[in-house]
Amino acid sequence: MPTTAPRRPLSSPANRRAFLTATAATVLTSATAVASAAPATTRPAAAARPTTGEAALATLLEGNRRWAKIRSQHPHEDRARRIEVAHEQHPFAVVLSCVDSRVPPELVFDQGLGDLLCIRTAGEVLDEAVLGSIQYGVAELHIPLVLVLGHERCGAVAATIEQLRTGKEVPGHIARLVEGIGPSAWACRDEPGDWVDHTVAAHAERMRDALRADVAFRPATVVAARYDLDSGRVRVLR
Ligand SMILES: [Zn+2]
Repeated sequence: MPTTAPRRPLSSPANRRAFLTATAATVLTSATAVASAAPATTRPAAAARPTTGEAALATLLEGNRRWAKIRSQHPHEDRARRIEVAHEQHPFAVVLSCVDSRVPPELVFDQGLGDLLCIRTAGEVLDEAVLGSIQYGVAELHIPLVLVLGHERCGAVAATIEQLRTGKEVPGHIARLVEGIGPSAWACRDEPGDWVDHTVAAHAERMRDALRADVAFRPATVVAARYDLDSGRVRVLR
């Protein structure tokens, strides 16, 4: 016999209210307010967190150099780190990247638990949920860097170019991705060479420029970069 009462479904009004309250309290409470609840002895790494966009970018690129040379240190993956960040988080960079399974930001930049606020959509396409998530990082968590990461041989970019070339209808929700990437591809259609690779860079730069133009992200440094699947290296696009 079960010893606990059966759970009410989340869709019941009382449970939904409780969930929303708990979510809001957990997600939106400022880090400093929660900091007082955490034991001081469990926060030694907080001092090492980069506090400027340039320092954050340098830390990411240093981690990427380790990754590319197969010298990853896998920082912040131990039990002490898990305890340290259980009640507060101070990630130092927002990474907006593709969903591609070969480009996981924590591995590519050799970072660990609580270091990066990662947002991933196919082809780094922006929508309101993505913008809200980035704003949460910049405004609430005071993250100094937003990095938009495109990558070599991006399937979402390739699908977009295929659609532009053939005019064939794209199925279902994928059409939204093509719509988001299409202007980037169209802008570099006459450049000699690999249209997909040109679009990868052009699209990351266009997403970067859209974020830079938005007053919500003014407090942060916003950069675009391209990840090379063959070498493992990230190159900043300036
Ligand atoms: Zn991709």
